[in-house]
Amino acid sequence: MTSAVIALGANLGDATSALQGAVDALTQTEGITVLAASPVFETDPVGGPDQPVYVNAVVLLETELEPLALLRRLNQIEEQWHRTREVHWGPRTLDLDIIDIAGFTSNTERLTVPHPRAHQRGFVLVPWLAVDGDARLGGAKVTDLVRNVDVSGVRKLNPELRLAIAP
Ligand code: ATP
Ligand code: MG
Ligand code: MG
Repeated sequence: MTSAVIALGANLGDATSALQGAVDALTQTEGITVLAASPVFETDPVGGPDQPVYVNAVVLLETELEPLALLRRLNQIEEQWHRTREVHWGPRTLDLDIIDIAGFTSNTERLTVPHPRAHQRGFVLVPWLAVDGDARLGGAKVTDLVRNVDVSGVRKLNPELRLAIAP
């Protein structure tokens, strides 16, 4: 079993349901055990065109899947939510990114791990810290990384919303 960190994001349709649906789909995937989910955050879009605010969360899991099989499964779940890719960093029903896989690095276009932009993204680092205060990324403490990041556009929902992990 390998541990992995997945970032979830959505800003089209019922975005919160998409995040919960993704957690449910991961939970139901053979070879994946979802360990924990962060609270859901509302975040201002970063990059891309003018678009609605996002909801974001981070999920910690353990998996027997090879990294590329994990990515294929994430892509499959995105497709179940009718994810399309028309505009780079454009609005989306569901985005599932691999942020980190313990003991693994990859530098191909298909799969770059650790995720090459995670260290500069408040919408990834803040939820991640909320679910794992000791998180580390590429040898750095996430608590240190987040100090150099603008997190003004990252807001916890009120009341707090935590994604459910079904048994
Ligand atoms: P960003 O990667 O900046 O968050 P994005 O999530 O909008 O952008 P996508 O359109 O979801 O980008 O994915 C584009 C490609 O990125 C996919 O075809 C996928 O193979 C590739 N990719 C490379 N590394 C990763 C990773 N760590 N997690 C998810 N997809 C990845
Ligand atoms: Mg992404
Ligand atoms: Mg993606």
